[in-house]
Amino acid sequence: MEQVKILVVEDEVIVARTIANQLNQLGYTVIGTASSGKVAIAKAFESKPELVLMDVILKGEMDGITAASQIREQLDIPVIFLTAYGDDNTVQRAKVTQPFGYVIKPFTSKDLRIAIEIGLLKHNLERDLRENRDRLATLLNSMSDAVIATNEQGIVTFINPAAELITGWKQADALGKDISKIFRLIDEVTETSLENPVTKVLRDGQVVYLDEFTSLITKNGSRIPIGDSASPIMRQPGQINGVVVVFWNLSERQQAQLLEQALHKERELNQLKSLFISTVSHEFRNPLSVIQSSVELLEMQGENLTAAKKHTYLKRIKGAIQSMKKLMEDVLFMGKSEAGKLECHPSSLYLEEFCRELIAEFTTIHHSGSEIIFNCHSDRTDACMDEQLLHYIFTNLLTNAVKYSPEGGNIFFDLTCNLMEKVAIFHIQDQGIGIPEADQARLFESFYRASNAQSIPGTGLGLVIVKKCVEAHKGQISINSQVGIGTTFTIILPLNYIPNVMNK
Ligand code: ATP
Ligand code: MG
Repeated sequence: MEQVKILVVEDEVIVARTIANQLNQLGYTVIGTASSGKVAIAKAFESKPELVLMDVILKGEMDGITAASQIREQLDIPVIFLTAYGDDNTVQRAKVTQPFGYVIKPFTSKDLRIAIEIGLLKHNLERDLRENRDRLATLLNSMSDAVIATNEQGIVTFINPAAELITGWKQADALGKDISKIFRLIDEVTETSLENPVTKVLRDGQVVYLDEFTSLITKNGSRIPIGDSASPIMRQPGQINGVVVVFWNLSERQQAQLLEQALHKERELNQLKSLFISTVSHEFRNPLSVIQSSVELLEMQGENLTAAKKHTYLKRIKGAIQSMKKLMEDVLFMGKSEAGKLECHPSSLYLEEFCRELIAEFTTIHHSGSEIIFNCHSDRTDACMDEQLLHYIFTNLLTNAVKYSPEGGNIFFDLTCNLMEKVAIFHIQDQGIGIPEADQARLFESFYRASNAQSIPGTGLGLVIVKKCVEAHKGQISINSQVGIGTTFTIILPLNYIPNVMNK
């Protein structure tokens, strides 16, 4: 172990030498002696001892106490006083310099050793404590969470810069004030003041967290939504010595979250756009090549073409044009609704009449092998809805019912008007392939197609369009389906929906 370096300050030369000898024998290194306060300070600066033994009474202008205080302040070297006096005045003055010990003359080597070791230990402990305190202060001052500490009476003893910023209270004004002045909370929903978390912690001795929708009232009376936790400070179990409140400005976090959500949405939209373009161009390619090959065959066979073949080719061309037209319409519809331009223009209509006409038209155009059985369960079916949007809804659902059913399967179309609830309920039920449960939740996503439908042509836009039309009426759509048994779509629409112009 390295020897401790000590400076001895004693104006009696013989005494100084004796002490130096004692110290050497005890294993310390005496780096010098000084007989006046001034010389002592100069030697301390020059040789940086780890400890100074200082006689209280020194000859000359400067006594030991003044010299000790300068050495301590400027060099942070612990000083132990050597004194023959125990009078109050001397002790009082010596105390101010925060000495690390006293040795009363005459003293033995043992007294000296004990005083030196305790002095060094005390100095090391103090330094560690100071370093820890500085580290903690730096941490608290630089952290983005706001921190306020109180004593056991709820009086503010600490407030960090982040807390100053949120509360509007400067440290100088906040320290010593009751926490209820600095940290006032209000419930944003009920508009009532909330119990101060510090009071709660002091009473219950447990960590407290804030409820949602809590705001802090700042010094200038404005409100800031915050989240917080308050914890007791306990030096011994069961004894609360104070409370630490950690809180943060939720509006900043909320803004960051909103921004993150917006970016996420933007990313999703971009992905959707790419998917849209690739799927749509792919879907156009099929009917286009059908048209191209049919036209080529028509040209090649020219005069030799039989009427039957001509009919087949023309039918193929018509079918391809039809599917391109539908896709075109779907894409235009999606574009319109994505741009927020999907408007609902309700007009008076009789739903029973409307449905019967729609089914007749559908059957004529589609010539499907399935029969659509319509049932109306209400006498009064007058309503106010957007006919064009209704058309989209039922044409798409009927197309699906036909497309995903074996030929000849029945399709049931039911209408009920509930005048009490002021809603119309539509069921479209088929006996087709059904939809696997795992796919059902994603059917209303653009281009999503169930795993059992991949071999059947389709783009995966129909149900998205249906949902948008239902939502434009503030209605609801639900599915009930079992693979191999069939599918029922239920649509509930308000009988008389009046769109809010402001919401458009
Ligand atoms: P399109 O855009 O041409 O309508 P699509 O029919 O594939 O193409 P949607 O109408 O949106 O797209 O339907 C999405 C998916 O839901 C379908 O691919 C199919 O898997 C499933 N589906 C919809 N209706 C039925 C039904 N009645 N029976 C079984 N599956 C269905
Ligand atoms: Mg469809």
